Amino acid sequence: MIDSSSNSREVAGAGSARRLVNSLPFSRRSFLSKTSYFGAFYAAAKLIPLPALAAELAGDSRVSQTPIVDKGFASVRKVGEGLYATISDPSKGFQTVCNGGFLAGKDAALLIEGFISVAGAAFQMDALRMVSQVPVKGALDTHYHFDHSMGNAFFGANGIPLWAHANTPKRIVESYGALQGADKAAFLSPLEKSIKEAKTETARKHREDYLAHVTNVFNVANSTVLALPNRPIDPSKLPMKVDLGGITAVIESYPGHSGTDVIVRVPEQNVVYAGDLLFSNMYPVCFDTQCTVSGWRQTLKTFASWNKDTIFVPGHGPICGQEGIALLRALFDDIEEQAQKMHKAGVPAEEAADLYQVPEKYKNVAIFAWDFSIGPTITKLYAEWGAK
Ligand SMILES: [Zn+2]
Repeated sequence: MIDSSSNSREVAGAGSARRLVNSLPFSRRSFLSKTSYFGAFYAAAKLIPLPALAAELAGDSRVSQTPIVDKGFASVRKVGEGLYATISDPSKGFQTVCNGGFLAGKDAALLIEGFISVAGAAFQMDALRMVSQVPVKGALDTHYHFDHSMGNAFFGANGIPLWAHANTPKRIVESYGALQGADKAAFLSPLEKSIKEAKTETARKHREDYLAHVTNVFNVANSTVLALPNRPIDPSKLPMKVDLGGITAVIESYPGHSGTDVIVRVPEQNVVYAGDLLFSNMYPVCFDTQCTVSGWRQTLKTFASWNKDTIFVPGHGPICGQEGIALLRALFDDIEEQAQKMHKAGVPAEEAADLYQVPEKYKNVAIFAWDFSIGPTITKLYAEWGAK
């Protein structure tokens, strides 16, 4: 499964480390519960506790105010008939890191996300078994990023079919298989160099934060036995309906975050499991080589056109309604507006990427590491304009 021969040696070489780093997925604020990994990380991250629920949904009778289980690192609550959301709080532990959920119909259940660890995937399975004993028809990774897929081995060990976008297995192997057994010092050295070469204090901080996160990706990939989805979803054959008995889930694919993004909708109940196409109360994470700003904004426009009472379970951040979509769109607009001004003033892309100013009104919007989120959003916008 893992090609540890020529490919991994080649990408692990210092010369191509930058290319690999550019294709690395992010984690949100952190990762596993292996504390020894997190020395540099703790120094760099803002580990703020997060609410599981946006204030706008506090009075919504469809959403249970009390979780069925709350382990700190994640809680699970009802968001519809047979529909549950798993919401992570990485400030309290790294077992899950991303959000997920499950759908429990009369005949079968569908689990969403492999999370960042087997412990995280097992936690969600236990939560399902608290409310339903129906057989599990399958699990689904919304995309290949490691915080959504490193717990996939749980499904393999339990004989649960694992669905994902057809390109997900390949990208897991390319991105994380390639890190396994690689020379850590050689891999990280270009990032250490970029810290030394930073021309401003802001740039230096952004590069340090990036190094801390990339180091964690490396450590997580090296401590994980990779498991690949075995039910590829061909995006050209979507939407696909999955009948769970009284609940019809619809799997759809949209461009934007990773090139492998699929969502699960339950149109009859206006509930959407959006994966990382939705960061709730967070700046978008745009580092992926296949992330497209224009595609993502088009996707958000589509989400905004859906029922005004839609409940969204985001890939990260609190459960929200349409206001969460509106905020993410506004954040893209603001980044574009500032980037355009810089472009017109002759600021090159690489410099502009460090110069965005968070407006006062967005000061409580979380930023995952700058170089995974705002920085690449700006350089991708420049690229879309054909600018450098
Ligand atoms: Zn992601």
